[in-house]
This record gives sequence, structure tokens and C-alpha cells, in this order.
Amino acid sequence: MSPSVHPTAEVSPTAAIGDGTRIWHWVQIREGARIGRGCNIGKDVYIDVDVVVGDHCKIQNFATLYTGVTLANNVFIGPAGAVVTTNVPPQALVAGVPAKCIGWVCDCGRPLDRNMRCDYDGKSFPALRSKARKSDSRRAK
Ligand SMILES: [Zn+2]
Repeated sequence: MSPSVHPTAEVSPTAAIGDGTRIWHWVQIREGARIGRGCNIGKDVYIDVDVVVGDHCKIQNFATLYTGVTLANNVFIGPAGAVVTTNVPPQALVAGVPAKCIGWVCDCGRPLDRNMRCDYDGKSFPALRSKARKSDSRRAK
């Protein structure tokens, strides 16, 4: 399935867009950026020169990804307006300005519960449990 790019989006001819990725209204994707397969890039997203986005990432409206940033697979950027200035690990949910990891998401894009399990499809991500615990104990102090 080839990518779908809305006519109002501006994608540099030197950017690479993976199969099945959907790019919505007014998105700008700059020179040399590489977007993986099956991503969803929301309205008014700006993706800077040479940014790398993994497969199956969801990027919500008005997010900005600056040069030097690499997103792993299955990342969720949002809610709207996030400004991403650092690399993002797999399954991370990041939001804010600058964007920080505020949780974790399933491959289906839904948030994981405290046990790193998806309510919707039952998938679980045991490898994320130790990371999540670390951030919990930081908050508790
Ligand atoms: Zn799921």
C-alpha cells in the first residue's frame, strides 16, 4: 500500500515515506527526512531536515520534530502541539514543550496500563515494566 499524502501537504522530493503512511492537511516534511511504514502524521505537523521516524508512529496535530531527532517504532506523539527535541524509544507516549515521555502505548496506539498491558487487545510489554517502575519511584521522591 503506497503512502497517502494530502494535496495540501508539502513533502520534499528527497524525503522518504514508508508504505501505508498517511499524511494529513498542511503537513511539511523537509529534505532527507525518513518516515517509516504505517505512520499517521496529523494536520500541521512539521518534520525537520533529516529527522527519522520509525514504523507505525502516530504524530498528532501541530507537533514539531526538530533535526537530530529519531523516533523508534510504535511511538505516539501527542496531544497536539508537542515539540520533540530528543530521541524517543519504542512504545513511548510523549507530549509537551519540550516533549517528555509521559507513558507508554501498545502497537495499536492505545495507552498501556500500570502492568504494561493493553486493555483492548491484551498485548503486554514486559520489557517496559522496569522503565515504568523507575519513573514511578522518581515521582514518589
Ligand atoms: Zn493494543
